[in-house]
Amino acid sequence: MSNLAEQHALVTGGGSGIGAAIAASLAEIGVTVTLLGRNVERLALKAAELGVSHQVADVTQRRQLGKAFSAAEQEHGAITILINNAGEADAIAFAKMDDDHWDRMLAVNLSGVYNCTKAAIGPMLAAGYGRVINIASTAALTGYAYVSAYCAAKHGVLGLTRALALEYARQGITVNAVCPGYTDTDIVRQAINNIVASTGRSEDEALNELVRGNPQGRLIHPEEVAETVLWLCGQNSITGQAIAVAGGETM
Ligand code: NAD
Repeated sequence: MSNLAEQHALVTGGGSGIGAAIAASLAEIGVTVTLLGRNVERLALKAAELGVSHQVADVTQRRQLGKAFSAAEQEHGAITILINNAGEADAIAFAKMDDDHWDRMLAVNLSGVYNCTKAAIGPMLAAGYGRVINIASTAALTGYAYVSAYCAAKHGVLGLTRALALEYARQGITVNAVCPGYTDTDIVRQAINNIVASTGRSEDEALNELVRGNPQGRLIHPEEVAETVLWLCGQNSITGQAIAVAGGETM
């Protein structure tokens, strides 16, 4: 097994939530980490807190990404661990959804994963080693009402994960998906606000509605997702898998 402390990991959407927790646990075991995201102030703050680097780019913008990946590689060498974590989860009824919503959900959650993986795969092949870990969702494994575009995008991420796992199985590169259930981050806080605004329910009622699907009856902690990612980074024989971190919600 390659020594993880010798690797360079890039975490997209690493300035907050699950991405920040993943970056923290990778940095803690000595991995060189680059955070990538759009919000320069937040990224710089988080990078300083963790003692890691950062690059500014939107995962939907290929030219920006190309420059950011090159700059990260110039600073720390080939990116051998790619954590495709950036994502957005807006909810709306299918009949009310406009084309922009669909295009945006697919662009960020699916094409963003494609764009970053495309940018990282050449150096991984040259290194003969790579870990691609896609933060998908239980929405990659099952459907949910009112998030059809998000579900479609995350199911797409799982398809890409499985195909690439086979394509690179003999080249030292593993490709896996981690599928969290509702996790205590900004995305869930936004979902709670939306439920409160659209239904007039209280925040507690909205939260109960979200955790009802988790047999453990609670939100997942970002650190629990990070622990799973760290574990996957150390595995050679696990590839093409979707690991649910969801208290038993999906089997
Ligand atoms: P979050 O909002 O804290 O994190 C998402 C990050 O992605 C943010 O830092 C955001 O700025 C960044 N981002 C969004 N669009 C981007 C773009 N175009 N380019 C670059 N960065 C962009 O929420 P989170 O819960 O930590 O989400 C992380 C991932 O986990 C997402 O892919 C999300 O779909 C997935 N997920 C979250 C939950 C949950 O309940 N929180 C459940 C399942 C899956």
